[in-house]
Amino acid sequence: MYIDAHNHLDFYNDNIDRAIKDINENKIITLANSMDINSYNLNKKYSKKSKFIIPTFGIHPNSVGSFKGKLKELIPYIEESKLIGEIGLDFLWVEDRTLDEKQREIYYFILEESAKRNKYISIHTKNAEEEVYNSLKKLEYNKVIIHWYSGPLEILEKFIELGCYFTISVDIGYSNLTEKILMKIPIDKLLVETDGPTALEWVSGEYGYPSEIKNVVKKIAHIKKISEEELINIIYDNFNRILN
Ligand SMILES: [Zn+2]
Repeated sequence: MYIDAHNHLDFYNDNIDRAIKDINENKIITLANSMDINSYNLNKKYSKKSKFIIPTFGIHPNSVGSFKGKLKELIPYIEESKLIGEIGLDFLWVEDRTLDEKQREIYYFILEESAKRNKYISIHTKNAEEEVYNSLKKLEYNKVIIHWYSGPLEILEKFIELGCYFTISVDIGYSNLTEKILMKIPIDKLLVETDGPTALEWVSGEYGYPSEIKNVVKKIAHIKKISEEELINIIYDNFNRILN
């Protein structure tokens, strides 16, 4: 059984039926990360069409500008969602620096409320690796999936020491940095992801369906010099530790 530990099903728009069919046919357990409340509701709807889809609530750093509610209104969603994601900080792709404080306000709130409830959290760290690390270290919290890490290797070491999980994404085989990161991640903390249709598009120009996860696994198995079957089992075990 394949695991896609970070996807964005609401990015598929008109192609969603084909994406869900792909998930069902290939038996890909999928964490459907959310951008905001609407996106979470959509992911919940999609999860009714597949036993492999697990919707997760979060407010993505890209979406903090459009969140106009009060933070405490997020609590029922945090409570309801089995895992949390996507949350995080992004000081690169989010270009509006006037939103930095709002990013922090929402990130720290959801992080702390999720940690209180012992939930696993998918975290985005773009150009904010050190701050995210410090936020976790302060709470001594490691029920965390660091999503598509691409920051400095020294900070990666600190996340590893803390005991976090990590996803390798669709740029494996294209990025030397991702390969170096892969080789540092302990095998019992390794997960894989596709990050929605646009991530592969960004990497190679191709539109990414969920079964792209097979290529990610194939490339990692080749680099790590283990069989695909063995790798699939390792990732499945890692993910089950998170779920249970
Ligand atoms: Zn994402």
